[in-house]
Amino acid sequence: MLKVLKFGGTSVGSLERIENVAKRVAKIKEAGDDVVVVVSAMSGETNKLIEYANHFSQNPKKEEMDMLLSSGERVTSALLSIALNEMGYPAVAMSGRRAGIVTDDAHTKARIEEIDPSNMQKELNEGKIVVVAGFQGVDKEGNVTTLGRGGSDLSAVAIAGALKADLCEIYTDVDGIYTTDPRIEPKAKKLDKISYDEMLELASLGAKVLQNRSVELAKKLNVNLVTRSSFSEDEGTLITKEENIMEKPLVSGIALDKNQARISLMGVKDRPGIASEIFNALANANVNVDMIIQNKAHSGKTNIDFTVPKTDLNDAKAVVDTFVDNGDIEDDSYNEAICKVSVVGVGMKSHSGVAAKAFSALANENININMISTSEIKISMVVDEKYGELAVRALHEAYELDK
Ligand code: ADP
Ligand code: ASP
Ligand code: MG
Repeated sequence: MLKVLKFGGTSVGSLERIENVAKRVAKIKEAGDDVVVVVSAMSGETNKLIEYANHFSQNPKKEEMDMLLSSGERVTSALLSIALNEMGYPAVAMSGRRAGIVTDDAHTKARIEEIDPSNMQKELNEGKIVVVAGFQGVDKEGNVTTLGRGGSDLSAVAIAGALKADLCEIYTDVDGIYTTDPRIEPKAKKLDKISYDEMLELASLGAKVLQNRSVELAKKLNVNLVTRSSFSEDEGTLITKEENIMEKPLVSGIALDKNQARISLMGVKDRPGIASEIFNALANANVNVDMIIQNKAHSGKTNIDFTVPKTDLNDAKAVVDTFVDNGDIEDDSYNEAICKVSVVGVGMKSHSGVAAKAFSALANENININMISTSEIKISMVVDEKYGELAVRALHEAYELDK
């Protein structure tokens, strides 16, 4: 069997932990499996590197950020490979480039376009353990790129897909996917299985346990994906097709996204094509727009509010400024003290009253809802940042997810 194992930042957070990972990998190799390991940077390392860059600039060139940030994962891949070789298990460390990962040129959040697995395959054929630096690739010109925060998950899934691996295991600091972040609600319950679609919603809505693009790709390539703990032998959570899950609860989980900011555009010229111009310009700047609210126009002017990740706010401001400068927008304002809480479940498709219950749960806690959006399988609400965790606990209880 070919397994792709990914170890996150906490799992490789110290030399001792890297040694433990080496032992765990060796055991799996010993059992007769072929192994590719994908590693993150040691915990805190990526944030530290970002702080270093911010010491010199608040808006550093993205190409240079990728040079900087990709180094964290190279350190751990080399260290793990050194440890494995020393233990008598032939291993080879590879950067994203050597692993054949080619991306577009959207620096700091590049998309994988193709993978040439021949270097990895050659080493596997020789019986070696391949240790790949996650979170990175190169564009067609050979410039180093990174895949967005949490991107080592995506590296693992993409490599599993390219090598047609039998299993992709994501080892982290919790023993699976819970009904909500167990650090916010200790009563959260571990799920044995969750559908790709629900996991994709949870991940996109802030549950950082898996990067959302990795789930999207796992679904597309039908990769068998498991999340489990580096620190225990417990069985984790299987992320699989909806039809493989017998029980379909109304609500599967609650997510909290603190990386959200609200942008308000006042006095927007109300003419056909204006929304298309603004949001196309944002898309071209790679800004990820989420909720959008447009108010009824008065005397040819309207207001538009929308949310973006805080990490996209600088790029969004630059785009909005161009519309303010040419007079299409009178004024703009920004609010970073917000967050988004979301309720996710495939069972919602066939039930009514699910949203009403969410609104009541927040009302009972006196939490004001600023924006709402819904889809077939989710309800998202923007609230003040300081009430985010309380809202999560209130919703968790309202849908009896602790039962
Ligand atoms: P890694 O460094 O291994 O990639 P992350 O920190 O990215 O790990 O993700 C693991 C964290 O995700 C957990 O420590 C937990 O706090 C958080 N998390 C958020 N939502 C959930 C959830 N629904 N189930 C499990 N963990 C969650
Ligand atoms: N080190 C990167 C991050 O912190 C990628 C990852 O850990 O998956 O976002
Ligand atoms: Mg992660």
